[in-house]
Amino acid sequence: MSEKKKFVFKSEVNELLNLVINSLYSNKEIFLRELISNASDAIDKLRFYLISNSKDIKFNDDFYIRLFIKGDKLIIRDNGIGMKYSEVINNLGTIAKSGTKEFLNNISNDKNINKDLIGKFGVGFYSSFIVANKVKVHTKSIFEKNSKNSILWSSKGNGKFFIKKLYKKNNGTDIILYIKDSCKEFLNKDNLISIINKYSNYVDFPIEYKIFDKDKKKYIWKKINLYNAIWLKNKNDLTDEDYKKFYHNLTNNLGNPLIWSHNIVEGSQNYISLLYIPDTSPWNIWNRDEYKNCLKLYVNRIFIMDDIKNLIPYCFRFIQGVLDTNDLPLNISREILQDNIILKKIRVSLTNRIFKMLLNLSLDDKKYIIFWKQFGIILKEGLADNDIDKYKISSLLRFNSSKFDENIFISLEDYISRMKIGQDKIFYITSENYISSKNSPHLELYIKNDIEVLFMIDKIDEWMMNYLNDFKGINFCSINKNNLNNLDNILVTNKNKSELITVLDDDIKLFINRIKNILSEDVKDVRVTNRIEKFPVVLLTDSNDMSTQMLKLLRSTGKDIPKIKYYFDININHILIKYIKNINDENLFKKWIKFMYYQAYLIESNSLEDSVSFISNINDLFSNFIYNN
Ligand code: ADP
Repeated sequence: MSEKKKFVFKSEVNELLNLVINSLYSNKEIFLRELISNASDAIDKLRFYLISNSKDIKFNDDFYIRLFIKGDKLIIRDNGIGMKYSEVINNLGTIAKSGTKEFLNNISNDKNINKDLIGKFGVGFYSSFIVANKVKVHTKSIFEKNSKNSILWSSKGNGKFFIKKLYKKNNGTDIILYIKDSCKEFLNKDNLISIINKYSNYVDFPIEYKIFDKDKKKYIWKKINLYNAIWLKNKNDLTDEDYKKFYHNLTNNLGNPLIWSHNIVEGSQNYISLLYIPDTSPWNIWNRDEYKNCLKLYVNRIFIMDDIKNLIPYCFRFIQGVLDTNDLPLNISREILQDNIILKKIRVSLTNRIFKMLLNLSLDDKKYIIFWKQFGIILKEGLADNDIDKYKISSLLRFNSSKFDENIFISLEDYISRMKIGQDKIFYITSENYISSKNSPHLELYIKNDIEVLFMIDKIDEWMMNYLNDFKGINFCSINKNNLNNLDNILVTNKNKSELITVLDDDIKLFINRIKNILSEDVKDVRVTNRIEKFPVVLLTDSNDMSTQMLKLLRSTGKDIPKIKYYFDININHILIKYIKNINDENLFKKWIKFMYYQAYLIESNSLEDSVSFISNINDLFSNFIYNN
């Protein structure tokens, strides 16, 4: 055993220690992530040395990182490359000095060496002092033949450190932390295990903890981490089952992913991404405050954080998976990440990648519909995002249509391929659901003329249409609105056109004026229409006015929006209208007109503000009818 020697930290180390202990990490538990990362690097270096020197190549399982608690001490042991005397002084006495880099300079001048190992500057080791009031490092370098020349480094983090030689049989390093009284939770096995599961699950080597095996009646080392970071593996070596298994581990989602994309990017950007589209939506995906972005950021297999805003566009927040890059330092903060130029570039390529995934998925109708039902409404938000290619989003949209049943969803491309000669608009109807679209009086004329109409029945569709003017240059046109002249080009035969024109005789003009007197407060105008047959009346929104669905959407957010004044269109050929026209009793006439107005309103809006008056009115009409017969 040699004499103990005292050293002083370089002044920057003291500054750093103060910073680390007092403010750098808001999260104490991160020290464990840092030490395990160092241990894993040390093993990586040894493995690299063995491979490049054709020594006995060990399997990953032959390496280990072990944790154990002895009284108030937490010990983290690795059987990695270890450090020599000079290395200990250099590595643990200074900062902003990458031991990894030096190691690589020494071992090889070969430019093709594994870049993964290079360039991790950081405060890693010193984070020990967040939780420990004294730290010892007991290490033996693989290059040190004499076990007696192993090194013991110790410090209380107070400006000095001591070094002496101390026998250590095997290569590798023990980090011995004398845990502070205030940090006793780090002497709790379960707590340590859960921290490891959180940050270090995919470290490439087994992280082990000692437990007593009742059957074998002895202590054994039990692996804590999954350590199967499959994203690092070659795609050709992975089966679908491997990807699904990893997905289950990563997400705790019991379902299967609909599609995944695994990419290794090297060059101006260096990252690996493994992205999944799940088959079910998390329950809180709509809650901006609560929902966490499920793409996890790793740096060299070490979990850094999830829920990073802007890592992918918000309308892709259903994506789950892993992004692993060596281009970022381990100790990067959330704030810095927001504006990080490297991440900004990665975001652009992830966005393109996700578009490609969606496009591939859309080739499988069955799977795409599962996706669409779960996440279509989220994807639509992308139309309002200026950073996203609107056309790409539009191509991925799906809608119910007047030509098909509720289970069929068509794309805009499909719609265009079926457009009639002369049709220069994409017609759509907004309403509450499939059935009310399908049975809407607005649709009658279009069905009669075999013109397809898209159903916009998601809550946000009306809002979405503010951002979607056209698809491939063809404009959209709402059939709930007063846009009838848009049909002119399609209704080519004079017969069809003439159906829309009605000559008003004095009798009808008088009738219309009587109605106007009653509904002057409620409607914009009263008109005669030929576009409906089954229904006596219909409401149309003026082309410049807010639509009914938009009004409902805004009101549901608590906004005080005045009611819409519609066009009230009447079908003078309808038997009920003919009957009403001949009623002379002004009171009875008024009741009938109110009934007509409110039924049209009910169809348009799916609800009434005053349903009681509506029902009383109908009851009065029935009573009157019975009384008179
Ligand atoms: P970084 O890991 O970012 O370089 P650290 O302060 O965490 O910074 O560690 C400084 C250096 O100490 C490392 O680069 C490495 O050379 C050495 N080191 C730390 N822990 C170990 C270990 N368990 N085994 C071998 N070397 C280690």
